[in-house]
Amino acid sequence: MKIFNTLTRQKEEFKPVVPGKAGIYVCGPTVYDFIHIGNARPMIVFDTLRRYLEYRGYDVNYVSNFTDVDDKIIRRANEEGVDSLQISERFIRECKTDMEALNVRPATTHPQATLEIPDMIEMVQQLIDKGHAYEVNGTVYFRTRSFPGYGKLSHKNIDDLESGHRDEAHQLKVSGEDEKEDPLDFVLWKPMKPGEPFWESPWGKGRPGWHLECSVMSRKYIGGTLDIHAGGEDLIFPHHENEIAQSEAANEQTFSNYWMHNGFLKIDNEKMSKSLGNFFTVRDICEKYDPQVVRFFMLSAQYRSPLNFSKDLIETSKVSLERILNGAEKLDGIVKKNNGKELSEEEKRLLSEELPKYVERFNAAMDDDLNTADAISVIFELVRFTNAGTDTESSSAFAKELYDTLFTLSDTVLGIHLTRSAAAVSEDEVAEIERLIAERTAAKKEKNFALADEIRDHLSGMGIVIEDTREGVKWKKA
Ligand code: AMP
Ligand code: ZN
Repeated sequence: MKIFNTLTRQKEEFKPVVPGKAGIYVCGPTVYDFIHIGNARPMIVFDTLRRYLEYRGYDVNYVSNFTDVDDKIIRRANEEGVDSLQISERFIRECKTDMEALNVRPATTHPQATLEIPDMIEMVQQLIDKGHAYEVNGTVYFRTRSFPGYGKLSHKNIDDLESGHRDEAHQLKVSGEDEKEDPLDFVLWKPMKPGEPFWESPWGKGRPGWHLECSVMSRKYIGGTLDIHAGGEDLIFPHHENEIAQSEAANEQTFSNYWMHNGFLKIDNEKMSKSLGNFFTVRDICEKYDPQVVRFFMLSAQYRSPLNFSKDLIETSKVSLERILNGAEKLDGIVKKNNGKELSEEEKRLLSEELPKYVERFNAAMDDDLNTADAISVIFELVRFTNAGTDTESSSAFAKELYDTLFTLSDTVLGIHLTRSAAAVSEDEVAEIERLIAERTAAKKEKNFALADEIRDHLSGMGIVIEDTREGVKWKKA
């Protein structure tokens, strides 16, 4: 398999550290809210990478963390007047629910920063002992210039970075926080502020920096050298660059042989953001669409290309996926009839000569830097082949062979089920629900509250719950 390595900016043949094994670390979400549809992209893409490597016989150790201590979590906990642990635990649970819906398999290990503090302290101490870090007033900084390879992943020159930081250096001086030796230095351990969670350390009460946790947890659960480190492209700099500096300075070995980064997901060609009102959680989308459609949509583009999300595009995915499901249904029908017929000579020929060509082409697409877009095209061709090659006279044995192949490629490798989820709302239903909601909004505007309530009751009778929010009316299936 060839993988585009961000480090070398080239497609390279994948050669694991230990033959037959693959250690993969994927940066996971910060758990302060429901995951959004952009967060789902790396989850689905790298889950597919894992599935594909397993299908090709690798023993995969897949590690993906939850960042469960962070300013955003603390802020939300303070807003809700609860402990930050309650926030992180709640959203880890919610994230796992979404992952399950999207058929993203649980990682071999899902480490959490707050459960790994002793190991974090150990790495910080190692870095101090080796001269790569220093403490000032309870903060430990990484001495960036002590690591000669800094900038190699993001292809940035350290002196250009330095000039980019000049303004920051100036601001630091103004704000009196000029305790760093160099503006390029970054935090490994930060001292506690009132109202924040903290742990005891040799440098006083405090908590680890974000970059540190991935260096520590990947070393603990995979080892000093990872085969593949992955995440969204926004993480290349500074997060992954800093992870490399910390890990290679501490471990004195290559941190990761391959770096994979997914492109960003946009909504209607714009950056997704709460203020633009185009922000969707996975939960929002999966209430309207079968999560399998979302997974199919994500894989319909190669992972490095930018991906645009819109109502039209997800509708198109829904229709496309139907073609695969219909093909599978036809085969399943023949299998279930179990007509006991022997394979005909022509069926034998199709199975031995034609069917393997589709599998080979599917594998070739996936071997080319996980080109799921091309792999899905091959699945469509396979469905065309099975549709054309089967009829009421076909043997069940033949249909079963075809079904099993389709199942392996679609369900086992891409994680796209061949059966429909019962909970999905049909397109017609969505249109009807949206029409009723618009009618209710109009009724409310005209102060016709009796009608508005009547419409709400009618929707409720249809099994639809609506909620008035600041961003407008939201609905879901009860
Ligand atoms: P965060 O919780 O922001 O650290 O993000 C978790 C993962 O989602 C990281 O790998 C991010 O790079 C990725 N991510 C965040 N937003 C998007 C987006 N719009 N498109 C694709 N990936 C994203
Ligand atoms: Zn990370």
